[in-house]
Amino acid sequence: MMYVKTICPYCGVGCSFFLQVDDGKVTKVVENKNDPISEGHPCIKGLSSWETIYAEDRYKTPMIRKKGKLVETTWDEAYNYIYENMKDLKPDEVMFYGSSPSTNEDNYLLQKMAREIFKTDNVDSCARLCHAATCYAFDKIFGISAMPAKIEDWKAADCILIIGSNPESNYPVAFTQKILAAKKNGAKIIVVSVWKEQTAEQADLYIEIEGGTETVFFSAILKHLVDNQDAKVPKDIEETISKIKMPDVVNQCKITKQEFDKAVAMIAASKRFVLGFGMGITQHVCGVDNIFAACNLVLAKKGKIISMRGKANIQGVGDMGCQPEKGGKTMTTAMFLEPVKAFYIMESNPAQSMPNLNKVHDELKKKFVVIHTTYPNLTAEKFADVVLPCCTWAERSGTFTNAESRIRFVNKAIEPMYNTKPNYVILTELALKFGKKFPNKIDDILKEIAQKRPGYEILDLDKLKSEKGQFVNREPKFQKYHLLLCKGEDVKPTKKYPFLLTTARIPFQFCTGEMSSRSATLNKMAPEALCLIDPVDAKKYGIKDMQMIRIISEVGEIEIKASLTDKTAPGLLIAPYHYEKTLINKLVPLNFNSQVEEPNLKKIPVRIEAI
Ligand code: SF4
Repeated sequence: MMYVKTICPYCGVGCSFFLQVDDGKVTKVVENKNDPISEGHPCIKGLSSWETIYAEDRYKTPMIRKKGKLVETTWDEAYNYIYENMKDLKPDEVMFYGSSPSTNEDNYLLQKMAREIFKTDNVDSCARLCHAATCYAFDKIFGISAMPAKIEDWKAADCILIIGSNPESNYPVAFTQKILAAKKNGAKIIVVSVWKEQTAEQADLYIEIEGGTETVFFSAILKHLVDNQDAKVPKDIEETISKIKMPDVVNQCKITKQEFDKAVAMIAASKRFVLGFGMGITQHVCGVDNIFAACNLVLAKKGKIISMRGKANIQGVGDMGCQPEKGGKTMTTAMFLEPVKAFYIMESNPAQSMPNLNKVHDELKKKFVVIHTTYPNLTAEKFADVVLPCCTWAERSGTFTNAESRIRFVNKAIEPMYNTKPNYVILTELALKFGKKFPNKIDDILKEIAQKRPGYEILDLDKLKSEKGQFVNREPKFQKYHLLLCKGEDVKPTKKYPFLLTTARIPFQFCTGEMSSRSATLNKMAPEALCLIDPVDAKKYGIKDMQMIRIISEVGEIEIKASLTDKTAPGLLIAPYHYEKTLINKLVPLNFNSQVEEPNLKKIPVRIEAI
């Protein structure tokens, strides 16, 4: 029996645990009591993660699409096919798409391939869809595109405002080990959300808010703190917020004055204020403004701001350069605005995760698509010309940089199964076809990362393998308030589309579901997509609990089971995006934030029909 220490492949909290290996087979996840993040208590996703290694339908060998069907091939043939189809592409005709389940080494080599072989800056990652607004706003306010706080900071708080996120479901260990620990020590918890999620059950104050009006909410709180001399802000900020009128705030945010006053009083009394947020406030046209306004409030309170960013290597993927750095295209531009001829995708599933999926599918059909993936997903099965089977995280080594910029080592527990390979090996072998020699050992790639990527010059293999790991070498360079107009998002229900739909995450599935749906434990708990609907609304449309309904928007329609609950407000539907059988993002029109092209996935006018 052997125990291999590694990092959880799921969320950006980045817990460490051991994989128990028995006769060459991973048989269990064992808690790591010395892990400073999980403190020996990983969540159910982490504990069941090993099950996904043995999914029977994993890709076992490379595949090429011939006459519309994926057929097995050799690695050499797959590389030759890619070479023949991509060698003449101009820099502007290709898009590289990295991802946060892939390691730093994988993402570093992907962008190296884009920039050194294809001479293109068209490099992006799945982070575009969730927290591009956060990175942009943090860069303007603090001078760094990263969270200026640590996960441990939750613990010291005396007042925590959680907004646009449901950490009990999406950041489980941060919730159980840090946020609840603060609550135990007397911290007050305020939860602000469009619906009463699990986290709200633990709140001292719960406020239901109209999504997309968070800028107004934060700015109004700041105004009250300043008016009551509980905070000071620069003159220009004071002048801007002085124009805010409380009746407008109540109206626009759809909150009551009483609950607003309670929130102001709790924040005013706080000496160690922490504001934590998630995609509920970033995935809006006004997402960047939401973060600016949140930061203004935090600066005035001399508090901490925590962005609950999603996947295991969520900070690393951007740090490695998987984002345009010299004016290249984002994935949004390459897909919708200035289409390219080829997509090279690593461990992402844009055919399910992007907005306006009918359009995305039409586009992908016309392109040359290469994908690295362990499991079949919609992008691979329907649109890829070449599928390169990468092994799971348990079969490869490398590093992850979690949401708090902590870099730690992912240790290989078993050899790659079947005819699969780690992403970095695939990339070095393919680079050779194009006549380029890339470093092909983890240590050598890390050395190059240390030389080339800002903040990573401190990399030290021994320290990376320690419990603590290493933090990226960066501190906030400044703290600048940001002047903004305090306007919310202008998306409203209409006569034709009288409901608003919000896409959401649930506790027992993860992102586009490739990995979580292959865990028997998780799948048993959440086998299918459910759309939450207010019982009064349901009655009006003759919809019963667990009945199939049709949801229609201006760009698509889907069918889904209804789940009646008074946790969602009248007029609001909540549905998860994890399920390939229920492609919620078909309903999402392309409507994005102009600064960072992060789409609005949170406020979609729709109508419903009982089936
Ligand atoms: S909190 Fe996140 S990183 Fe930790 S075990 Fe759960 S899914 Fe994994």
